[in-house]
Amino acid sequence: MSLLKAAGLSKTYGQGRLRVEALDEVSLAVEPGEAVALMGPSGCGKSTLLSLLGLTLPATSGELFVHGEPVPTRERQRAWLRNEFFGYLHQEFAIVESDTVAANVTIPLEYARPRLRRRQRLERARQAVDSVGLGWALHRRASELSGGERQRVAIARALVNEPGLVLADEPTAALDVATAYEIVTLLLSMRQRGTSVLMATHDPRVAERCDRILPMEDGRLAVEDTDTFPSTGRHDGA
Ligand code: ADP
Repeated sequence: MSLLKAAGLSKTYGQGRLRVEALDEVSLAVEPGEAVALMGPSGCGKSTLLSLLGLTLPATSGELFVHGEPVPTRERQRAWLRNEFFGYLHQEFAIVESDTVAANVTIPLEYARPRLRRRQRLERARQAVDSVGLGWALHRRASELSGGERQRVAIARALVNEPGLVLADEPTAALDVATAYEIVTLLLSMRQRGTSVLMATHDPRVAERCDRILPMEDGRLAVEDTDTFPSTGRHDGA
């Protein structure tokens, strides 16, 4: 069963003359333990698609399934899925510069249910930080770290809840080529932990290292994700 499945997802921003059809009937599936690149030029809808999949933006229409179940409509349950099922990575790292690495990485654990004790949260953060090779920086402030190290902190934060799927939006765009290579290696190594990765990028060097590339163009997948709906073309998530 697919980990995540989207059927006919569309998104329109604004109204009237300001109306932008950012996504048009996108269907795709992500399987457990695979890394998929979403590749296309700036403005083609990659960020919008990741936001809809990650439940941080409502779709105008379409359906979404996690482990074969329709995603809940109630905000409380959606918030739970956001925190437990997804990990998020951004181009600008989105970490709190004035906080320590440990404080940044424990953020998702603050919302974990059942609640974890402070000592458990710190231990989990320490393991995640170790796994990205930053054990030495656990109590350093994020502002003291390099760009590549900050993105590692963001990866540790995305991993700390052991998510099913990490959604990464241009995670290497702010990094030099060598650092970008290391960050992609680290992201792809998540597959060994059973975590899938869906990565938006406009860089073919990054995309080629993934298991599969979904090319995007003008709000649509340029090549239909045929594995999603092989013979019937059904868009009902069955
Ligand atoms: P990409 O991530 O591939 O650069 P985006 O998803 O950011 O693409 O944007 C897709 C289209 O939607 C673009 O035309 C962009 O200008 C438009 N868009 C994105 N966000 C908004 C918004 N909040 N309001 C209006 N239009 C938007």
